[in-house]
Amino acid sequence: MKITDLKCTILGQNPVVRVTTDEGISGYGEAESSKPYLKSHVLFYKQYLVGEDPTNVERVMMKIRRMGSFKPWGASVSAIEMALWDVAGKAAGLPVYKLLGGKVRDQVRVYNGGVRFPMAGSNPEDYATDMEKMKASPEGFTIIKGTIGFHSQMVSRVPDFFYGELRGGAPHANRGLLTEHGLKHAIACVEAMKSVLGDTIGLALDCGPGWMIPDAIRLARALEPLNLMWLEDLITGDYMPYVLADNYREVTRATSTPIHTGEQIYLRQNFRDLIEKNAVNVLGPDPADIGGLAELKWVAEYADLHGLLIAPHGVFDGLIGLAALVQVCATMPTNYIAFEYPLGKPAWWYDILEGLPDPIVKNGLIEVWDRPGLGVDFKVEKARQYLSAGEEDFFD
Ligand SMILES: [Mg+2]
Repeated sequence: MKITDLKCTILGQNPVVRVTTDEGISGYGEAESSKPYLKSHVLFYKQYLVGEDPTNVERVMMKIRRMGSFKPWGASVSAIEMALWDVAGKAAGLPVYKLLGGKVRDQVRVYNGGVRFPMAGSNPEDYATDMEKMKASPEGFTIIKGTIGFHSQMVSRVPDFFYGELRGGAPHANRGLLTEHGLKHAIACVEAMKSVLGDTIGLALDCGPGWMIPDAIRLARALEPLNLMWLEDLITGDYMPYVLADNYREVTRATSTPIHTGEQIYLRQNFRDLIEKNAVNVLGPDPADIGGLAELKWVAEYADLHGLLIAPHGVFDGLIGLAALVQVCATMPTNYIAFEYPLGKPAWWYDILEGLPDPIVKNGLIEVWDRPGLGVDFKVEKARQYLSAGEEDFFD
């Protein structure tokens, strides 16, 4: 089998990659909805792929993997890798999980990072109300992620939250030492969230990046009695093109609250310090940024050898990304916690794909499906209407 073309279109906000072959099989991959600008970056790799056998996934990836980087510049390579697995699975008549080593579990747990409601304010009572809504969500999530500190509107809504100058522009641009008032406010909001969730729904918190080490330690220690799932991206994260594993290690060594990072990191090599130094307790790579499914699986295995847990990021990965997450997470070792459940946006995404169960999530779990490849396919005639002008030939 040979690759004949690499295509990319933006459906809604998500870049969608299509790998076509000389045997009529197509594979699809998807990048985050926050990256509608990636089309030309995806197409840059076409020159290296045409003529290659897509079922030798690793051999093909060795041609392009070097030319990617931390978020957002690892997403194109990652989406292509997803599409290659989709082709390989369809060609073999097997679900991708079989090609990645077989499933370890029949159901994969997801956590809520995407079912969101507008918040009236950033006070403890607002956080409590927000958690009540998420708790009532029909997916029956057993783990919910909230946002505090520099990853939330607390920074701008709470007067004198920190000592730095408030910055706008790119998301989560603020960083600095918190005021005592700001720190106490953040802790009070977490206590309010936890009082709603009780001890049957786990609470995780996306916090930064932007925390200074002393504040990060104070926060993590103050929250110890609440038995949180994890504190995410306190020091680095999101779009920061570096890791600072030693800084994380200092926080992690100082507290029993699990510390988490990893969503922006590209390739296994850049997880090495975090894992070998036990610099965090939980890793959260995104298959649509780390370099793909095999890369994520490798990091999960290596993390397990060192006693780290894994909870992949995924909130913006769309429904093809969801399918990819289900496939790879089914194969992870028992250090797997849950992945972040992506939603299809706009809602018409649910009408243009076949293969997803309905409902997708029951009691916080997704049943692993057995359709070949990633297990989802476009209903082409329905999907066509959402193609942009000039891209009508994407499915041809
Ligand atoms: Mg995050």
